[in-house]
Amino acid sequence: MTQRPGFPVKLSQTTASNPARKTGVGDTGRIAPSRPPSLNPSQTAAKAASAVLPRLDSTVTGLGLDSVAVRARMVRKLAEQGVQDPRVLEAMGQVERHRFVESALVNQAYEDTSLPIGLGQTISKPNVVARMVELLCQGKPGKLGRVLEIGTGCGYQAAVLSHVAGEVYSIERLRGLHEKARTHLRPFRLHNVHLIFGDGMLGYPKGAPYAGIISAAGGEAVPDAWLEQLAVGGRLIAPTITPSGHQALVVILKTSEGFERQVLEAVHFVPLKSGVA
Ligand code: SAH
Repeated sequence: MTQRPGFPVKLSQTTASNPARKTGVGDTGRIAPSRPPSLNPSQTAAKAASAVLPRLDSTVTGLGLDSVAVRARMVRKLAEQGVQDPRVLEAMGQVERHRFVESALVNQAYEDTSLPIGLGQTISKPNVVARMVELLCQGKPGKLGRVLEIGTGCGYQAAVLSHVAGEVYSIERLRGLHEKARTHLRPFRLHNVHLIFGDGMLGYPKGAPYAGIISAAGGEAVPDAWLEQLAVGGRLIAPTITPSGHQALVVILKTSEGFERQVLEAVHFVPLKSGVA
């Protein structure tokens, strides 16, 4: 049996949500922006993780220390698994993953496992979220500009993205999950996260062009709308069925000459579906 982290923690709200606030697109609130740590490139991934971690204790308040410690352990593990980008490690250390899962699953929130989030959908493993966000940030110093996420789900990855991008547009086709994500995100007060209910296969032209597009659902092919809405120099990360019939992570870079496509490791994401429900 795998060892469970020291949970449950006290699930008090870190910041009181204001019930009087109007709910609408972008009504997700903000938490204090974080500065990327300045790291020497020769530092190892583990050192990069520890450079980020001590800051957590001082920046995360209102939660039992267990949550901070367990999240710090998750970040160290991510670094050992090869996640190197300090922006990504810091974001993964900041976002309280246990607030995005059902209370019965809180004990597993920081394990490297995908978890059910309702309506037959799942939140990806922390390792997969970190890997995809790192791929999105690759080659871009500082913060990304506007980013589009297809498949808001429970809202966890949108919260992670809010730390590495200026604006996050996240679209979900299942109304139940769209509403759930709004509820999950509200206490964090992330004003740069905009939740949209709609069919993400059409992208979201109002926020285009995007510095990055990231899909949390896997399709047969990358929809043309995404390629059109990507900025020149922008990167798209999407699980896609490859000619061999398996789902793999596909990275597409848009250049002034066209598109450069890379097929990476095999993955298992829920299917990309059209229409709303
Ligand atoms: N990033 C999410 C993962 C959610 S799983 C998280 O952190 O929880 C993938 C999500 O993609 C599911 O909620 C599914 O409903 C959604 N999805 C699938 N096809 C979609 C489409 N065409 N447009 C928007 N969302 C879609």
